Amino acid sequence: MVNKLIFSREEMFKLNRDKLRSRGVEIEDIAKIAFFQQSKYNKDISMSTCIESVEKILTYRDIFHIVQLSIDIDILTEKKMFSAPIQNIMEADLGMFGIDEILGLNIAANYGVIGQTNFGDIDVNKPGIVKDLNDHGKLGSKNCHTFLDDVVGAIAAAASTRVAQIQSEEQAEKNPNVTYIKLDI
Ligand code: MG
Repeated sequence: MVNKLIFSREEMFKLNRDKLRSRGVEIEDIAKIAFFQQSKYNKDISMSTCIESVEKILTYRDIFHIVQLSIDIDILTEKKMFSAPIQNIMEADLGMFGIDEILGLNIAANYGVIGQTNFGDIDVNKPGIVKDLNDHGKLGSKNCHTFLDDVVGAIAAAASTRVAQIQSEEQAEKNPNVTYIKLDI
């Protein structure tokens, strides 16, 4: 039997949702961070737009590959499947490692420079589930969240930025004399 390599967006969404869930992360946990971040700038954002944004981001192929690979790296690190010294570096979640942040920045870059600066904010301040993952994934615990905390933070940053873009579009479309084309953000 030939292994399946190409998945529809619906399939990628479900595989991502289930993979995140298997590591204790729900879509709502990510959406809450996006809401928390974006509500500082926009008072009238809704949680449902944040959830919809996270769901949308989880359908993209590049993000699918990063989510699937990142979580597997964490799982294989827990099983001590890598060689020293990289095994020890990832197990310790070494602050100077940085490959996890590269993947996070790559996810956030789908929503431009603002997406990336929003990721930096989440990476430094560790709101909500990002802090939980970080606290429960350190050396001495049986869990490794070296990649997961960045992937989750970056999806939240991307979702937060998407919400801001939707708000900007809505604001721009207030001119009643213009017919606007609805773009898929
Ligand atoms: Mg990390």
